[in-house]
Amino acid sequence: MNISVKSSSVLEEAHAILDRLGVDKSAYTNGTMVSFSPVTGEKIGKLKTVDAKGAAAAIEQAHAAFQAWRLTPAPKRGELVRLLGEELRAAKADLGRLVSIEAGKIPSEGLGEVQEMIDICDYAVGLSRQLYGLTIATERPGHRMMETWHPLGVVGIISAFNFPVAVWSWNAALALICGNSVVWKPSEKTPLTALASQAILERALKRFGDAPAGLSQVITGGREIGEALVDHKNVALVSATGSTRMGREVGPRLAKRFARSILELGGNNGGIVCPSADLDMALRAIAFGAMGTAGQRCTTLRRLFVHDSLYEELVPRLKKAYASVSVGNPLDSAALVGPLVDKAAYDSMQKALGEAREHGGSIHGGERVDLGHPDAYYVKPALVEMPKHEGPVLEETFAPILYVMKYSDFDAAITDHNAVGAGLSSSIFTLDIREAERFLAADGSDCGIANVNIGTSGAEIGGAFGGEKETGGGRESGSDAWRAYMRRATNTINYSKALPLAQGVSFDI
Ligand code: NAD
Repeated sequence: MNISVKSSSVLEEAHAILDRLGVDKSAYTNGTMVSFSPVTGEKIGKLKTVDAKGAAAAIEQAHAAFQAWRLTPAPKRGELVRLLGEELRAAKADLGRLVSIEAGKIPSEGLGEVQEMIDICDYAVGLSRQLYGLTIATERPGHRMMETWHPLGVVGIISAFNFPVAVWSWNAALALICGNSVVWKPSEKTPLTALASQAILERALKRFGDAPAGLSQVITGGREIGEALVDHKNVALVSATGSTRMGREVGPRLAKRFARSILELGGNNGGIVCPSADLDMALRAIAFGAMGTAGQRCTTLRRLFVHDSLYEELVPRLKKAYASVSVGNPLDSAALVGPLVDKAAYDSMQKALGEAREHGGSIHGGERVDLGHPDAYYVKPALVEMPKHEGPVLEETFAPILYVMKYSDFDAAITDHNAVGAGLSSSIFTLDIREAERFLAADGSDCGIANVNIGTSGAEIGGAFGGEKETGGGRESGSDAWRAYMRRATNTINYSKALPLAQGVSFDI
């Protein structure tokens, strides 16, 4: 899709979309929190924010809504999410475009993000009839033991800028069918897409009819509003997506009041290219994994271990791909790489490249690309050949930097691969079944996602999504991730005339 829009109309276009989706203009034109488009660097919104008192009021209303919603049968709750999926389908072009405007994604990725929202709705609708518990054998005659899953409470969602709307939907679709209410604190960098998503949900709520008021809400504001959500006693679970720094603050605060958490934090994702790899396939997977979304995915490929027998063949091809990739305005060109989110992202990229140089790295790319917008930050993705796995390679820099290292010993490559704090996503490129299976085995990749012959990014919603170690250990989306949004009760029912005690204990009075 090649849509021609003059950069000066970015604000107008964003406002026209919000208007079409039914967002009240006063919510984004008269407030104090400024939203920017990374595409041109221009201001596109002045949002009303809530203060701590406003956040508490929203949470309390959501808590009252939860008390009614938990009694609505789960398949009926699924009907609300089915309607949300329908409304998202109808709004896909608008919301996808707004994601491109506010997060700087290229059109197919903006639309892909909305598709992911639709997919999780479909998934959650089916799940609303499958919130199964177990029946368990009991040692006592005339007894039955079972597990029941109950709604949990208010689910707080804190989201990052780089998946400004999909992360909300992964959580909200599951939370709602599980009988919970939702309070969402979106990233302060992408609040307009949050208002748009809320308006789409409100359309679904209107069609649904009798959902309790305040069932799903957005509270806009900065970090302090996230903290208000984390600290409120009526928020039973906080699903927080963002940097490991944020998780280090949020995790202990939640633990202190014994609230539940799903932490989806930073990634420093690695790939190994083995001697038997299909290089054409690996090249494409590496290019998308490392440069897609301008290196601003939690699953972006950041570290590549290449067997020394292939290094001289693969790395020149990679350099060529890096030199030729199109960097440009995602709204009016067919560029594959859009902007960084802001100046801070650009500065941290340059800092990491400086450190790489100090550690002997040889850098290809990384320069700023001037598109005539002084407040927009476009860069050439950087390929950095590193003599060793050390220095900035060990940390996530949220920008398109791919560190490439040679390896000769497979075990040593796996050891280096796992020798970072984060544990989100990983890939191996090989046609050798022994290497592939070893990578997936207990002593292989230590990540929550381990792939063979596909890249590190671009997960589907059917699998559980999340990572280990400093990535936080949370799981969202598919598989049995729904259980984190419910509480489990074990029930034992005695239908006999006796009262036998477990473990043969006697207590006759
Ligand atoms: P960030 O940590 O700066 O902000 C994320 C969110 O947390 C924002 O809404 C912010 O307001 C809030 N926040 C920050 N500090 C807080 C605190 N002390 N208490 C409560 N809320 C707080 O992250 P970002 O720059 O928006 O996003 C990029 C980061 O997110 C990267 O590290 C990336 O890897 C990570 N990420 C992880 C996943 C995943 O699923 N693992 C997905 C997307 C992004």
